[in-house]
Amino acid sequence: MSEIEIRCAACGTWTKEAKDITFIATVEAREIVITRLTGSRCQTCGEEYLDAESSEKVEEIVKKFRKPAVVFKRKITISGGRRVIGIPEEIDRALGKKENAEIWLEGDKIVAEVY
Ligand SMILES: [Zn+2]
Repeated sequence: MSEIEIRCAACGTWTKEAKDITFIATVEAREIVITRLTGSRCQTCGEEYLDAESSEKVEEIVKKFRKPAVVFKRKITISGGRRVIGIPEEIDRALGKKENAEIWLEGDKIVAEVY
């Protein structure tokens, strides 16, 4: 893809294709560093431009980290000596009451993918 070369909006120089762009987004007061993005870079002033694919990728990642408008608050209870969080009925129903979950940590967030 060479149509990626555009004129730099900052200084007017033609940019060169780049495959090592690092983008830092701040979401919910947290810095997310996204590396190996593609696009083009100005050889004169260093300004970087993401291509459509990378812009989409950034948007997708940022969306994942942003808190949704509807957040269910749950108290962590203890059951059989373990700390347990109940799945809100609305979420359980929306996901089709699946029976298994994979749970992992993302920073200080607990992420559960049900299947
Ligand atoms: Zn420039």
